[in-house]
Amino acid sequence: MAQVRLSGIAKTYGRSVALHPTDLDIRDGEFFTFLGPSGSGKTTLLRMIGGFIDPSAGRIEIGGRDVTGLPAHRRNLGVVFQSYALFPHLTVAGNVAFGLKMRGFARAERDRRALAALDLVGLSDFVSRFPAQLSGGQQQRVALARAMVIEPDVLLLDEPLGALDLALRKRMQRELRALHRKLGRTFIFVTHDQDEAMTLSDRIAVLAEGQIQQVDTPEVLYDRPTSAFVAGFLGDSNILNGTLVAEGFQLPDGTLVPLETGGRIGPSALAIRPERLRLAVAGRTEVRLSGTVAALTFRGAFVTMTVQTTSGPDVDVSLSGGAAGLAAGDPVSLAFDAADVRLLHGDGIRA
Ligand code: ADP
Ligand code: MG
Repeated sequence: MAQVRLSGIAKTYGRSVALHPTDLDIRDGEFFTFLGPSGSGKTTLLRMIGGFIDPSAGRIEIGGRDVTGLPAHRRNLGVVFQSYALFPHLTVAGNVAFGLKMRGFARAERDRRALAALDLVGLSDFVSRFPAQLSGGQQQRVALARAMVIEPDVLLLDEPLGALDLALRKRMQRELRALHRKLGRTFIFVTHDQDEAMTLSDRIAVLAEGQIQQVDTPEVLYDRPTSAFVAGFLGDSNILNGTLVAEGFQLPDGTLVPLETGGRIGPSALAIRPERLRLAVAGRTEVRLSGTVAALTFRGAFVTMTVQTTSGPDVDVSLSGGAAGLAAGDPVSLAFDAADVRLLHGDGIRA
């Protein structure tokens, strides 16, 4: 049984659409992420699941129960937001136990559960401190403990690591992942950061303009994006426009990329990752892109070479072995394997 099921859920504000009708099943125990740029509808979606915003249409089920009309506090959800809004006048233990007090738990039981939750996030030595005496990462862990202490069926997390610096963010990502494994609960996470989404998630829904573009595992989204938007949003991608013909995909300069087209004919686009392009070797038969070196950018472990191609757009190539003596203005020939390109469904939205 799906833990969270959305059927035709939508949200409009006046005439503007924050979320188009959406169907989605999130599995029991899954770490599921809504990934998309700012304004794509992630928070709207999460808040409707949480019961903080009423949907304009559709139905929400949690654990097989229709919760569409239920207020937030009757959905048994834990919630963590980017601004963790701890009570400054309560201790760490007091902050965590607060929700239990509201739910009528007796003192001893509140203390026991709050301690267990703080232990889980590695803060058992900080119970008597006040929020102002904690670092950002520690405060965020208190917020996590506070959300988990009520033993929610589903934990909702809206960009909870957004306020942390990069090193701490990476550490919290590992801790969150470990916590998810330990608890075995359903986590629904929101982020605009594709690295974070790929690191954490079992599955990701990629959103753009109030619509889910693709739902799958990080591996499939990266290796087999179905749209230019997803190809560009998860990692870097070169998009080449061209035409589907019987034998494959034809670039504007006539170069044929042999592909299985599934019988489709007409204008189309394909995506190829910068690390899947290489410098062509003279004498070898392979698919070629020719052009001129436009720029070389040192990226640490590799060099990104931007090439102005004769068949249209500029493409980026990742060269792990350095720039091979090439400089801006040099003619260059690139090669790739047809197996490494992905045919896209034209959807018009580019990342
Ligand atoms: P995200 O979390 O992906 O950044 P949101 O879900 O917050 O995006 O917003 C999606 C869209 O809905 C945006 O265009 C935003 O401006 C709009 N929106 C959100 N809340 C409201 C509101 N209360 N009134 C009007 N428009 C809103
Ligand atoms: Mg948001």
